[in-house]
Amino acid sequence: MSVRRVVAGNWKMNHGPAEARRFFDALGAVPSGPRVVVFPPVVSLASSVASAQGVELGVQNIHAAESGAFTGETSASMARETGAALVLIGHSERRHLFGESDADVAAKIRRARAAGLEPCVCVGETLEQRRAGRLEEVLETQISAALEALDPGAPYMIAYEPVWAIGTGETATPADAAQAHALLRERMRARHGEAGGQAPILYGGSVKPANAADLMDADEVDGVLVGGASLAAESFRAIIEAA
Ligand code: PEP
Repeated sequence: MSVRRVVAGNWKMNHGPAEARRFFDALGAVPSGPRVVVFPPVVSLASSVASAQGVELGVQNIHAAESGAFTGETSASMARETGAALVLIGHSERRHLFGESDADVAAKIRRARAAGLEPCVCVGETLEQRRAGRLEEVLETQISAALEALDPGAPYMIAYEPVWAIGTGETATPADAAQAHALLRERMRARHGEAGGQAPILYGGSVKPANAADLMDADEVDGVLVGGASLAAESFRAIIEAA
């Protein structure tokens, strides 16, 4: 059985509520076929829910606790109540700028599951790790920690995002993506059986309308996670059409 393609946009800290509404008005109804997901900033979630047509919405982060004295944080159940269906966990900016560990990622996955949010867990190596020949070891460590916390009985997705390709204009080649995705798929199948064979694996890192189709044609690439090119309705739509 083939996996349904996914096109996901991560707006990061861009597009407040009014801009989010303008984006979805410009995007309009999305073509049927792939699953289309957008991760707006949490303050723009409500206006996104009100204006998106045929697009699933998620948050970019949650706290691992259900509630409590965590000033400035958002809980999984609050995100769910506001209309999020998914959550990004372990994005490289969270890992590298905010110091999130594999243990933090696992705790957030468990909290997302408890709240009924579908986790989209990001993994990927830095340039230094790649140059040192540590690609396999890094992916193995990150995916094992994630799979341990993920429930094979509930939907989830994995995003392979080589850190050196995020926001840099550098893109992994389709062959690079296929190599990393094959490794991830093998671990997912080994740990979760059939469910591990069905969960989508997205590629992320400088995806644009010009390279999206080639990347999505690579083996085991079931979709894309798009940062910069998801901010304009026109380029995001072109990527959806490429899927
Ligand atoms: C991302 O932030 O997940 C990402 C892939 O960004 P960009 O497409 O801008 O490289």
